[in-house]
Amino acid sequence: MKIARIFAHRVELPLHEVTYKWSGGKSVTVFDSTIVGVETDTGLVGYGEVCPLGPFYLPAYAEGVRGGLRELGPHLIGEDPTQLAKLNRTMDAALKGHPYVKSGIDIASWDIFGQAAGMPLCELMGGRYGESVPLYRAISQEPPEQMAENVSRYREEGYRRFQLKVGGDPDVDIARVRAVAAVLGSGERLVADANTGWLQHEAVRVGHAVRDLDVYIEQPCLTYEECLAVRRQIPHPFVLDENIDDLGILLRARSDLAMDVVNLKISKLGGLTKIRQARDLCVSMGIAMTLEDSWGGDIATAAIAHIAQSTPPEFLFSTTDFNSYVTVSVADGAPHRVNGRMAASTSSGLGIRPKSDVLGRRVVDIS
Ligand code: MG
Repeated sequence: MKIARIFAHRVELPLHEVTYKWSGGKSVTVFDSTIVGVETDTGLVGYGEVCPLGPFYLPAYAEGVRGGLRELGPHLIGEDPTQLAKLNRTMDAALKGHPYVKSGIDIASWDIFGQAAGMPLCELMGGRYGESVPLYRAISQEPPEQMAENVSRYREEGYRRFQLKVGGDPDVDIARVRAVAAVLGSGERLVADANTGWLQHEAVRVGHAVRDLDVYIEQPCLTYEECLAVRRQIPHPFVLDENIDDLGILLRARSDLAMDVVNLKISKLGGLTKIRQARDLCVSMGIAMTLEDSWGGDIATAAIAHIAQSTPPEFLFSTTDFNSYVTVSVADGAPHRVNGRMAASTSSGLGIRPKSDVLGRRVVDIS
């Protein structure tokens, strides 16, 4: 089987909550998502999705996805999309870095592989565990009482895991964590994610001020070294995210005992092939994971569900359903939340069918 065409659509994804805010005053109101299609000489077509969290979260931006596809695409025509490790080597040889550009092609190629095999991706990626996976809800940065109210509202929708967007003024963040912890019940899970927003001394202060609370601290500071210094001074279970973008730093963090949980994102690693490699390594090393992506709609959520549900449940700390945050649906067949959980499709491949009327015209088309 050979890749005959690579194309992409640009889709705007507005939010039900209107604006999503996190550390340092960063916010997004309409997400700019790229839906990537890979067409083969057999007629099979696979889809992927790449949706950066704005241009200022990870080293990725929406127009960069499309520009990268125009650069990389011509090197992949004629390659076999079902030979995924080989395809990834070809991508890495043709374009250094830019893992988020490669992510959409890799997801679409897995979709083709699954369709050709007649199997859902989660079963190809290790096996389907259980009926469904537990979701967390990201709580946009707001005043403390508002965040506690939002957590209460999402609890009523079935969520039991919450990730607070902190990383602002440390005194307000302490109040945010306290206000939300006060409304949670037993068995519920709270993460304070600073998204690199605190300086080292601020992170240590926040940690000490909430030392009595059952809360995880995620990526407090910008650099790995700052995070490690904070981790060594506070008692909370600790999550690394933004700094962990390849196997080298993952192994270093394991060696330093720098985290208890790691947040792995499909596009941050470079696709399903690479997140699966990191996921399997984490299982072997005994590290639990949040498995997700930077953002996205139905297709990204479908891919997230497959990597999450093919992970042994005790290692799946949480995952999320980004398609429930946005007002536009780009595909049928994507997972939908039931009681705070979602299930990967039982259809072959990703199990989604794009809505051509929503996708509109192609903005990248390489053959
Ligand atoms: Mg995070």
